[in-house]
Amino acid sequence: MINKKRLAEEFIRQAAIASPSFREGEISRYLIERLEALGAEIVMDDTAGEIGGESGNLIAYFPASGRECEPFMLSAHMDTVEPVDGVVPVFKDGVFTSQGDTVLGADDKAGLCEIIEAISVLKDQQIPHGPIEVVITVCEEIGLLGAKHLDLSRIRSRRGLALDTNGVDRVIGSRVGALGHRGGCEGDQQNAPRPCR
Ligand SMILES: [Zn+2]
Repeated sequence: MINKKRLAEEFIRQAAIASPSFREGEISRYLIERLEALGAEIVMDDTAGEIGGESGNLIAYFPASGRECEPFMLSAHMDTVEPVDGVVPVFKDGVFTSQGDTVLGADDKAGLCEIIEAISVLKDQQIPHGPIEVVITVCEEIGLLGAKHLDLSRIRSRRGLALDTNGVDRVIGSRVGALGHRGGCEGDQQNAPRPCR
């Protein structure tokens, strides 16, 4: 069902575009072109001006095809951590790496590629689907800045998935972007009988 070769090629193209927080202009232009080619209507919100970055949040809307239901959101972020300037993705023995002097940027290019592949599969195989809203935020890596400035008046969906975690075997039901912390308390058992979280 998934076209692995197409997915790998998509990842190589995206990973080769350095997109640290605030400097998402090039990846944003790439994604607009890519999503428009798949049939999306694109809206950019005003976040770029509000935070002084190269790009705002990108909202791509795919109309329903053969199935009427509420819109569903697929979300990812387009920025990566640093160092990423000069990134050269390498694909060897089925594994992606960088050349070693930068990060690869798989967080969250992997999520972006999953979304593009999923929509490509829907189109190729003419699978009926409801409206799909792709929301791609900026400056996630520096405290979800893009998501905090996202123009919610432009968002139509009430349910969705944020594709931004490692592994393929778990779903976090809520609190996207929340930080978890687990620790313990020291002391005598009488005064500190329960572990803290
Ligand atoms: Zn991420």
